[in-house]
Amino acid sequence: MEDNRLISTGFRVEDADTDRSLRPTTLADYFGQQKVKDSLSVYMQAAIARREPLDHILLYGPPGLGKTTLACIIASEMGHNIRVTSGPAIERPGDLASILTNLNEGDVLFIDEIHRLSHAVEEVLYPAMEDYALDIMIGKGPSARSLRVDLPRFTLIGATTRAGMLTSPLRDRFGISFRLELYSPQELAIIVQRSARILKIDCDAEGALEIASRSRGTPRIANRLIRRVRDYAEVKASGHITRDVAREALIMLEVDELGLDHTDRTMLRVMIEKFGGGPVGLDTLAACTGEDATTIEDVYEPYLLQCGFLMRTPRGRIATESAYRHLGIAAPKPPETDGQLRMDIGDE
Ligand code: ADP
Repeated sequence: MEDNRLISTGFRVEDADTDRSLRPTTLADYFGQQKVKDSLSVYMQAAIARREPLDHILLYGPPGLGKTTLACIIASEMGHNIRVTSGPAIERPGDLASILTNLNEGDVLFIDEIHRLSHAVEEVLYPAMEDYALDIMIGKGPSARSLRVDLPRFTLIGATTRAGMLTSPLRDRFGISFRLELYSPQELAIIVQRSARILKIDCDAEGALEIASRSRGTPRIANRLIRRVRDYAEVKASGHITRDVAREALIMLEVDELGLDHTDRTMLRVMIEKFGGGPVGLDTLAACTGEDATTIEDVYEPYLLQCGFLMRTPRGRIATESAYRHLGIAAPKPPETDGQLRMDIGDE
């Protein structure tokens, strides 16, 4: 399903050029995710000193946080090439075998959406990750035999928005795994200023912070918003982005001061007005908002949870008091619902 929301975290065609030109190429240029960067530089230095390839790495977290970017940086800092592909693109075991046999010693193979690999393809990956080998079956029936082909020692970097959907044999074969976190507005403001410099956009520090605060902790959204705000600034404010200009532009784009757009607010409103604040099951929420359940889980929820507007309980989602406040709705709680709410929170 195509996602046309301005603040969607997924990749959109309009991002292609910006993604390429704005993608940091060194670890020093990659802002935020400090813990990940600290550990990673230790592992990279150790691998370089031992003249060994880096252990296989799993990167997980919501879309647009810099998983692909980090994989490219790792390859370049290790001084090797990267081959980028994705789970759904590798349809048959033969596709993966051909990718693997074309790698050179030390190369990085990046598989995005690795949780979407088919079972048959995953089976090829196990010996490749563990022993740098490919088991090829020759012949059929009783005379079939397996032939082992050695592969160059490579590093697999898998990325996923859903670590929980990875099979455990696959997850266990990653020596290193990092969770990428949503960025703070301050970190994102630095990213916005860097992007503004590269795109030659005139944006002051307060303007950058305003855009950053409304970017849902996601660099991809921040980079998209700054281009939209530039359009507004060029028409209305001779191209200069200040806090007021950014604010006006984002109000026009219906992105509120916390980065929530029309769909987020509809989702919270449905929970509050139709279900007394919840608990509401994921499928019900999907049906009422016209979004699919996966989009709700991957795109909307991480940020609404971080804002403290939503709670996940075993019985479904609950809108919190802050959500009522944010939407300017009084939170009248009938006694039964109140009791129910406390019970569910306790259940978590
Ligand atoms: P993911 O693979 O997690 O979906 P990407 O690596 O494609 O995300 O990142 C999307 C865009 O966000 C990139 O083009 C890059 O410009 C920007 N970006 C991501 N992380 C950072 C960062 N830490 N510093 C600067 N820019 C970043």
